[in-house]
Amino acid sequence: MQISKPDKFYDLVVVGGGMVGASFCCALEEALSENSLSILVIEAIPPNANSVKQSSFDARSTALSFGARKFFEGVDLWQALGEAVSAIHEIQVSDRGRLGSVEINRDEQSVEALGYVVENKRLGQVLNSRLNESKKINLLCPALVSSVEATEKGMKIGLNHGDTETSVDASLVVLADGGKSPVCKQLGIAQSIERYDQHALIANIVLEKPHRHIAYERFTDTGPLAVLPLQSIDGKNRGSLVWTLSAEQAAEYRELNEEELLPLLQERFGYKLGEILEIGETFVYPLSLSIAKEQVRPGLALLGNVAHTLHPVAGQGLNLALRDARALVDVLVSAKERGLGLGEMNVLLEYVARQEVDQATTTQFTHNITKLFSSNNEAKVWLRKFGLVAIELMPTLRRGLAERLMGLSKS
Ligand SMILES: Cc1cc2nc3c(=O)[nH]c(=O)nc-3n(C[C@H](O)[C@H](O)[C@H](O)COP(=O)(O)OP(=O)(O)OC[C@H]3O[C@@H](n4cnc5c(N)ncnc54)[C@H](O)[C@@H]3O)c2cc1C
Repeated sequence: MQISKPDKFYDLVVVGGGMVGASFCCALEEALSENSLSILVIEAIPPNANSVKQSSFDARSTALSFGARKFFEGVDLWQALGEAVSAIHEIQVSDRGRLGSVEINRDEQSVEALGYVVENKRLGQVLNSRLNESKKINLLCPALVSSVEATEKGMKIGLNHGDTETSVDASLVVLADGGKSPVCKQLGIAQSIERYDQHALIANIVLEKPHRHIAYERFTDTGPLAVLPLQSIDGKNRGSLVWTLSAEQAAEYRELNEEELLPLLQERFGYKLGEILEIGETFVYPLSLSIAKEQVRPGLALLGNVAHTLHPVAGQGLNLALRDARALVDVLVSAKERGLGLGEMNVLLEYVARQEVDQATTTQFTHNITKLFSSNNEAKVWLRKFGLVAIELMPTLRRGLAERLMGLSKS
């Protein structure tokens, strides 16, 4: 429920009600009996705010894995998302200008869909209305957290709400305030950062031909270009574009008008979906791999982009964060049942132990794909040509890749 004034103390305070913070709260709500824990989520920007300001629920679309579907079904939100979701029946991976491509389809994998695409704004509306309706989660929005510090008893959170500066205490703070987190810097938590010298230009596009639920991933010499299937509106065949470019190109293309940009995109993507008829407003995101060197401290856990920001190439960032969120909920609920404090380090280390293999393998997989498919180095060109052909020829390799993309891989 939306509150106008916070209490002095909460068992758990979540900083950031973006895609990850809000999803975590929904999972917590589902797992807890009423009044068993007091929970506050503090979000700076309402989800229906201007796209440029709201870093989570902006103009992007997100590919949700089969695992993410299970997450949203588990918290009873899948149906609400239902009509805004477009299923992926096939993924076509190719290397622009070279032979070798891989097609992964749902029939071969014996699943209803390989994944689903949802517009971030819609996901924001659904998550936010759940938080507003919730009797177990208190939502303070808009309110900006200015500081988080450890005290003798737990954590103190400083915040600005309206014209008021105030603070609340908590046993545990879950920091889900995104990749730029000033709070994380203030706490002295270092990040290991590898910049890819790539920017993602994103936009919604209108295509001549229907997508037939195929997601296209094309590797080009500037980096990957993806077109994901979106629900059609007013009879228009829509796709979500993620186009990886150098910093200079992204800045240049961002300034072009539709007539100038369309032929460049058409030349890169080709004619698999016929002519590209329209391109909506474009947004640019710098891309890097960023990993927090500490995931937990006594009274503190990091979740989502503040813990790990990945290249969007394989659509793994949110999907991994949802698996983290599920694991953290399980660990906290179990701690509560055992009478342990939520912020105890041994409890939080249980969470780290549960997720470290998944985090390491997902991060490595994404990083390797980014590097392999963004290079013109002859050895890498040969390797990916060989790799694509091998995957196309060998069902077991294809199955492995499909399981990872669906968020079902165990290692
Ligand atoms: C171009 C692109 C495409 C992507 N595509 C995919 C995909 O297809 N599949 C996938 O799984 N992942 C994808 N991702 C990754 C996905 O977007 C991220 O994993 C996700 O946005 C992380 O969400 P978050 O809640 O951790 O952070 P954010 O989205 O940054 O949200 C942080 C929230 O915290 C709030 N906040 C920040 N500071 C404060 C403060 N001090 N006080 C209060 N509130 C605060 C913000 O307002 C915001 O709501 C993509 C990423 C990019 C860049």
